Parts: sequence; C-alpha cells; structure tokens
Amino acid sequence: MADFKDRVVLITGGSRGIGKYIAESFADEGAKVIVTYRNAIDEEYFNSKGIKHFKCDVSDLKSVQEMTENIIKEFEKIDVLINNAGITKDGLLMRMSEEDWEAVIDTNLKGVFNMTKAVTRNMMSKRYGKIINITSIVGITGNAGQANYAVSKAGVIGFTKSIAKELASRNINVNAVAPGFIETEMTDKLTDEVKQSYMNMIPLKKFGSGSDIAKAVKFLAGDDSNYITGQTLCVDGGI
Ligand code: NAP
Repeated sequence: MADFKDRVVLITGGSRGIGKYIAESFADEGAKVIVTYRNAIDEEYFNSKGIKHFKCDVSDLKSVQEMTENIIKEFEKIDVLINNAGITKDGLLMRMSEEDWEAVIDTNLKGVFNMTKAVTRNMMSKRYGKIINITSIVGITGNAGQANYAVSKAGVIGFTKSIAKELASRNINVNAVAPGFIETEMTDKLTDEVKQSYMNMIPLKKFGSGSDIAKAVKFLAGDDSNYITGQTLCVDGGI
C-alpha cells in the first residue's frame, strides 16, 4: 500500500481500456493519478474517482510540453509515467495507406518519445522516476496486417532499452510491458475468426484482462523492481 501513497502517476490514454484499469488501480492505492486522452472522456466518472484528466494528443510535442508544464506546476513532480496511449490502423502492406502508416507511428512511437522527453527533466532533477511503456507482443512476433503497429511497438522496445541506459544514473527505471490479447475496445473490433486464431496461440487458453496488465505495471512502478531496467515483461498467457 505505502508504495504509491502520494506518488504522482501520469497515464496516457487512460480514459478507457487498459489505461483506465491502470489508473483505477493506482488511485485505489492512494496515488495522485492523472490520465490523458485524445477525443472524449467520462468526466463525471473520473472526477468521482479523484483522477485528474487532460485532453492532449501525444503525437503533438507542443501540446505534450504544455500539458506536462501544467501538471508539474500543480503537482511539482511526476514520479511515474505510463506511456499507454495507442491506436491500430490495420491492413495488409499492399493496401496500407501512407496516412495509416504515419498515424500509428506518430501516436504509438513518437508519442512515447514526446511524453518521455517532456517528463524526464523533472524526474532527473528529483533523482527519481519510473517509466513504463506499453508495447505489444506484436512488436516481438510481428503480425500479418499490422506492419505499422508492429514497427511502432518494436520501436518502443528499442527506445525502452536505450533510454534505460541513458537515465539509469539518475535513478530512473525504464521498462516495457508487452500485453498479448487483452479484452478492450481495441480488440473488440476483431472478427471472431481472428480472435479464435489468437486463442489457438495462447498456451493458458484465455484472453487477458486490463487488471492483468495493471498488476505488471504496478510491479514495474514500485520498489520491488528497483533493480530492473531496460526490460520488456510479456503478459500474454505464454505466447
Ligand atoms: P483502447 O481501448 O483503444 O484505448 C486507447 C486509449 O488511448 C484511449 O484512452 C485513447 O483516447 C488514447 N489515445 C489514442 N490515441 C491517442 C493520442 N494520439 N493521444 C492521446 N491519447 C490517445 O486501447 P487499449 O486496448 O486499452 O490499449 C492500450 C495500450 O495497450 C495501447 O498502447 C495498445 O497498443 C496496447 N496493447 C493493447 C492490447 C490489447 O489486446 N488490447 C494488446 C497489446 C498492446 P480516446 O478515447 O480519447 O481516443
């Protein structure tokens, strides 16, 4: 419990899906939680939980910098950054448009760069920080029809390893969590056939939940993982 009391935890894309689970689980432990979103949020719900929210497109560096400055003005610090915001725009290479390629890279990869760049100065000055990047097993295995997404998520793993080395001397840990198939709006879009093909690959024979990811994120954000950095923890039912 004491681990997160009064820690300032910023979660991108925390309005729904996995990010919402993560936000709730930190709020339940007394952390000061801030979520970001791009389009819309259930303000009443998040206000009732005491979770602060900011509309900010992670792919836009200027907006990210402005938002981060406002958060630091109000909370003085950001202890934990969870880079969770992500999108898919699937399609086979021959049909994938340049726009769909760029949109996915801009949110999933450049967004991680923007957010990390914006918060690290404050973390460095405090000599404390935990950065957790939500990648995907698709970034490790690849997946037909998801070249843009796989590249963005593989890039996040490379970014995690590199930035972990850069920030280690300032007591900042940088790790990634690679979810497998987690039941959210992102995966609701898939056809039953695709869902079955995923199920066939999962040794534990069940899809994951947002809370499975939240638990792994909390491990990497807490003191029990102080000697772990630059790693990618797969939470994927054994894929
Ligand atoms: P989701 O339900 O679709 O939610 C995505 C969240 O990201 C929303 O809050 C959305 O805000 C926000 N977002 C999207 N683009 C953004 C942008 N440019 N700037 C700021 N916020 C943005 O997704 P999810 O399934 O929870 O996935 C969360 C993360 O886990 C993603 O990085 C995803 O790639 C990764 N992941 C998911 C699975 C899975 O099976 N679900 C598996 C592996 C990895 P709005 O609602 O305002 O658009």
